[in-house]
Amino acid sequence: MNRLIALAFFATLIAIPTMTLAHEGVRLSAEEGQTWYRGNMHTHSHWSDGDDYLESIALWYQEHDYQFLVFTDHNVLATVERWVQVGKTKGGQTAYKKLKQNFPEWVEERVDGDKLEVRLRQFPEVAARFNKPGEYLLIQGEEISDRAEGKPIHMNVHNVEELIAPQGGRTVFETIENNVRAVQAQREATGKPMFVHLNHPNFGFAVTAEQLMRVRGERFFEVYNGHPHVANTGDAEHPGTERIWDIILAQRIAALDMPIMFGLAVDDGHNYHNIPSRASEPGRGWVEVLAKELTPEALIESLEAGRFYSSSGVALKLVESSDKQLVVEVEAQPGEEYTIEFVGTRESADLTGKPITDDEGKPKHITYTYSDAIGETLQTSQGNSASYTFAGDELYVRARITSSKPHPNPSEVGDFEQAWTQPVRGPAAPKHEHE
Ligand SMILES: [Zn+2]
Ligand SMILES: [Zn+2]
Repeated sequence: MNRLIALAFFATLIAIPTMTLAHEGVRLSAEEGQTWYRGNMHTHSHWSDGDDYLESIALWYQEHDYQFLVFTDHNVLATVERWVQVGKTKGGQTAYKKLKQNFPEWVEERVDGDKLEVRLRQFPEVAARFNKPGEYLLIQGEEISDRAEGKPIHMNVHNVEELIAPQGGRTVFETIENNVRAVQAQREATGKPMFVHLNHPNFGFAVTAEQLMRVRGERFFEVYNGHPHVANTGDAEHPGTERIWDIILAQRIAALDMPIMFGLAVDDGHNYHNIPSRASEPGRGWVEVLAKELTPEALIESLEAGRFYSSSGVALKLVESSDKQLVVEVEAQPGEEYTIEFVGTRESADLTGKPITDDEGKPKHITYTYSDAIGETLQTSQGNSASYTFAGDELYVRARITSSKPHPNPSEVGDFEQAWTQPVRGPAAPKHEHE
């Protein structure tokens, strides 16, 4: 390649638009060397409190049309020698029989007295067996499982190289921040792209919008988690994750001068054998990432640029934004009808939050209450596609698409299949954002 062609080539690379800057626009559609890759970014196994072996879980996702999967066991990487007693594993005989059936030549076992033991295959072994360029990719992750103020603070790091111990902190805010710093430090030290997301903020109602919004370097959180005990939609006192998202977006753009936060949908799978009801089964929530290739580097680059959407069942064909409008097209399924809602906040919205206090007037550990103008539904459309034209005063706009089809295996009773686009900065957002 001569120098001129090389320059032109790099110029086109640099010209790829991102979703994070105001008015630049984005077009998410499978064309011109870009492919949608479906992945789950929250997975438990026998390495912590899941009830199946890594290789059996990898097989499940491969057979269910996923292209990537991140293993995120609690405070452990599958990179050490470990033997487990079959009778004492969460999956017991059920998981063992499936393992033997699917991988007859591969299981390493030994008998100690009357106890049958199996060696847990390590991440590099499983990845070597399953990874296929362009088709399927296993990524090493970890659920950094910390605590602060008596609350569980869980954060997933993706493409991690070395185990990150929970960093602790005096407050929820400080603990999230300390763990983000630890991931950033490892990323810098290794030169390997990795990133961290805040898990299930409403699990134990641990994380409030006010704490999360101020953490610099935290740009991802779970707007949907398939575990039935994480209160995605909140309760009488606590707002749901979408409300938390809108509060964070409005505050970050209008008051804090911080980048927008992206919303992920994940499984948080623990139960792979349909044993208990209301279990945390795989296949409920995922992301569709538009990337130039199926590598951790390309996926992370696209995620960080907002080139993805999140789903609990609805597939999208196109998400396109310009300085004038935001357009969404659904990959429609026969017999389903779609409601496309555009949600956003206008610059006139009152951003003042009021703490919820106890009988003695002390603020409770709950997200503040705010005006309904934060996260208002700006437009509701029916059909397989819809476009929203900016009025000019929007700080940001995002779309939520809901199918008429009830979720076949819902995280919360009554859920319908949905998809969530990432927010786009609106005409009223400051032109530049700072990290
Ligand atoms: Zn967790
Ligand atoms: Zn988890």
